[in-house]
Amino acid sequence: MTTDRQFTKEGFSRRELMMRTAWAGLGVATGVAGAGSLEGIWGQGQQRMDESSARMGWPPVAPLPPVDSHYPVMPTWKTELRQLAPNVYVYQQQGGTGLMNAGISNAGLFVGDDWSVAVDALGFPLQTKAFLVASKHVTGGKPIAQLINTHHHGDHVAGNQFFLPAQILSHPYCRQEVIKAVATTPKSWPKQEGLADGTEVRKLTPPSVTFEDTLIYNIGGNVVEFRFAGPAHTWGDIMAYLPQHKILFAGDLAFFHLVPYAHNGYVSKWMESVDKILKMDVDTIVPGHGPVGGKKELAEMNEYFRVLKVEAKKRYDAGMSAGRAAADIKMGKFENWMGPERIVMNTVRLYDEFKGTLKPDVDTEGTKHAIQEYDSIKATGKKSI
Ligand SMILES: [Zn+2]
Repeated sequence: MTTDRQFTKEGFSRRELMMRTAWAGLGVATGVAGAGSLEGIWGQGQQRMDESSARMGWPPVAPLPPVDSHYPVMPTWKTELRQLAPNVYVYQQQGGTGLMNAGISNAGLFVGDDWSVAVDALGFPLQTKAFLVASKHVTGGKPIAQLINTHHHGDHVAGNQFFLPAQILSHPYCRQEVIKAVATTPKSWPKQEGLADGTEVRKLTPPSVTFEDTLIYNIGGNVVEFRFAGPAHTWGDIMAYLPQHKILFAGDLAFFHLVPYAHNGYVSKWMESVDKILKMDVDTIVPGHGPVGGKKELAEMNEYFRVLKVEAKKRYDAGMSAGRAAADIKMGKFENWMGPERIVMNTVRLYDEFKGTLKPDVDTEGTKHAIQEYDSIKATGKKSI
């Protein structure tokens, strides 16, 4: 069992690790870090922590051990390009027990006779390049002509530049948000083991083609239906559905074995979108984060939100602040999911819903205040009421 008082080999407590990520992330939220870390506001994992740590002058941090042996331990999964059906591939990035990398995302590839379509560009140069190298084994070196971004977060769009001259498509909201982020995105990538070699020029590339509702490809013998599914994780979520194979690339509507991250989200609508997916004719679900799974894993993620919403509402009605509520709520069997500290911004978003003040943008001030409260409560071990 790991507690706040157990330290990593670098000498940071679990709580300190969480807070370091939190503060670094708030810099991201206010535009300091640029779009390469749009997803990195808090608890996005090892890669974000290392990037943030470097920026703040902190050393890289150690992987976070499992939280509590009383609850189920997460699986471990590896980085691989895996075939799901003829001409249909997922590029899954590694994660799991002992690896605090909840921010590492997945991508997809639909191969055609002469060109291919990719889904999401990943977040760092070496990740994207590794995906492109792996793709060549199945495309035969023929071009990836089009790339669809499922939404605007950096771990899905920061690699866009490496797909050029491919055409890049998204929902209009995604394009708008990436364009907004261009001005604050640094011109280079700091050198980071496994993520960037320090030589890449950084050029955040917005999608140039948009669609509002549905876009259907007939490629490689497959029908691929790109569908708008928001607002949920963001106001511009796109999924890819392959009815012949009952496969859904769900983007960040799905987090498997990881705490879903709602800093830009509309939790109640997200839950409704998930309920709709659970009624679809789908067997295989590719999440934006985590290993490939199915409806069971997606239903579990929704249960996380269901539990959190009920618990948050009780505390909201009792007049408790969001930060205090996040510190007070126990998530039971979800305690070992990667990114447990995301409960703070998830609670902030739910409070914004309850208050009727929810907006598509991150609630930076509300989140900052909640983190301060949450940390001071965790630091002192005080009862929160
Ligand atoms: Zn996201």
